[in-house]
Amino acid sequence: MKRFPMIETAIGLAVGVMVYLGVKGYNVMPVFFMAGLMIMLTQTTQLRNMGGKKVAAVSSSTVPGIKFEDIGGQTAAKKELLEAIDFITNREQIKKMGIRPLKGILLTGPPGTGKTLLAKAAAHHTGSVFLAAAGSDFVEMYAGVGAQRVRDLFRKARETARREKKNSAMIFIDEIDVLGVKRGSHASHMEYDQTLNALLVELDGVVVDDEVQVLIMGATNRADMLDPALLRPGRFDRVVNVDLPDKEGRLAILALHTKGKPLAAGVSLEDLARQTFGFSGAHLEALSNEAAILALRDGAEQIAMHHMVEAVDKVILGEKLDRKPMPEEKRRVAIHEAGHALVGEWTEAGSVSTVTITPRGRAMGYVRTNPSDDRYLYTRPLLEAQIAVALAGFAAEELVLGDGSTGASSDFAKANEMARRIVQAGMSELGIVDPEHGNKTRESEVVATIIRQQMAKVRWFLEQRREVAVQVADVLTAHEVISGDDLRVMLAAAPALPAMPAAATETEAA
Ligand code: ATP
Repeated sequence: MKRFPMIETAIGLAVGVMVYLGVKGYNVMPVFFMAGLMIMLTQTTQLRNMGGKKVAAVSSSTVPGIKFEDIGGQTAAKKELLEAIDFITNREQIKKMGIRPLKGILLTGPPGTGKTLLAKAAAHHTGSVFLAAAGSDFVEMYAGVGAQRVRDLFRKARETARREKKNSAMIFIDEIDVLGVKRGSHASHMEYDQTLNALLVELDGVVVDDEVQVLIMGATNRADMLDPALLRPGRFDRVVNVDLPDKEGRLAILALHTKGKPLAAGVSLEDLARQTFGFSGAHLEALSNEAAILALRDGAEQIAMHHMVEAVDKVILGEKLDRKPMPEEKRRVAIHEAGHALVGEWTEAGSVSTVTITPRGRAMGYVRTNPSDDRYLYTRPLLEAQIAVALAGFAAEELVLGDGSTGASSDFAKANEMARRIVQAGMSELGIVDPEHGNKTRESEVVATIIRQQMAKVRWFLEQRREVAVQVADVLTAHEVISGDDLRVMLAAAPALPAMPAAATETEAA
């Protein structure tokens, strides 16, 4: 609804009255002068408020309570950061050696990996006051406001440190890419450029003799977007990578976040750390929290391993849904998941931990696997195995029900992605391919061939294990879940697998 323009109407009326009085011969000039003065004053105050508002919203605090010990894993990042901030604690020595102070540290890495925590711990370690802001806080449509905010932030950092009798201050700017994006690359680039220039000027102004040593820490997961001027030596000249934690790191983070929670005797944090490859610190915190909520809902006194495992699924896939699929849909999903699970066991024995057809998030069912270790490198057979598992759901539907369904679309996308990785990593018959100028048509043909070959193998295997697939699907339809162990018992009872005829894959691949 359109707002009634009260102010505009009042101004219009006032101007009308003034013109009328002017025509009648009254001297209206002083009134115009006063009105002009008032408008100017209001505008200036508004602009200052706009500039000051966000800086006032900047969360400033005294020295934060977070210590490096409160951060799990990230050993390399902690070490690098400790070395970098050493100059604040050893100020006299640094001065004596004529070393210029370090002005900026850039923390780069995926979301939720502990960049804010590390910045706070650095402030704690050096006894610095800590001010935090986000790149978006500096973005305004009014030219000059962002730049003013940058200056205000540095001023506020120095003032706060002086007031609290500290000789150092740390300014943390999260999502610094919003403010430090390459100059000229933004649509409203004048304002962005001015803001970034103000930051560069403030960084350049930091000197070792300053009464308050200011260190700026930026965090981003898009370091490639930053203006090169920010990264040149003398500005953000230390870049600390804050990556997703490895298994040891995940274990340490889980231990931190479950400390003080009533864990049952059977809970193995090692197992959970193994099962949570790709989780960030924030995911692991959410997992520990969700597990406690699930235990509370169950009315349990302690958090059991099954609460933890369910929390892993919840963090990956989302909340369980009340949506009830139709009986034939449920049967189809059961057969689809049975296919994935059986081929999963075929390609890596012992890898399946649970199969369920309880809808959760966007998944209608899923197979939980038990990865043996973090894996960062893949050979062609490993990728082919993943392609086979991805295709198995559709193949099982076709084999048992006579046709496939749209439920396999994301499986195909995954299979294609893996096959493309084989080609792009130079592991296909094309050898090393030029990622930019290679023959895309030929590459797509090879991708299709890899998928056809894997599909043929999967079809052959599932034909041999058709009865087990139906058995597993029956259990799933009745109970919605089957454990990896029960699945292995069923597989073990099946007759030995004959040797796969080479023709099975060749015919399909041709
Ligand atoms: P973003 O890039 O999204 O701003 P971030 O990297 O700054 O994320 P943090 O805000 O530091 O991440 O972490 C979010 C939460 O995740 C923390 O409050 C903490 O609970 C948990 N967390 C993340 N990493 C760790 C870690 N290494 N040790 C312990 N907890 C962690």
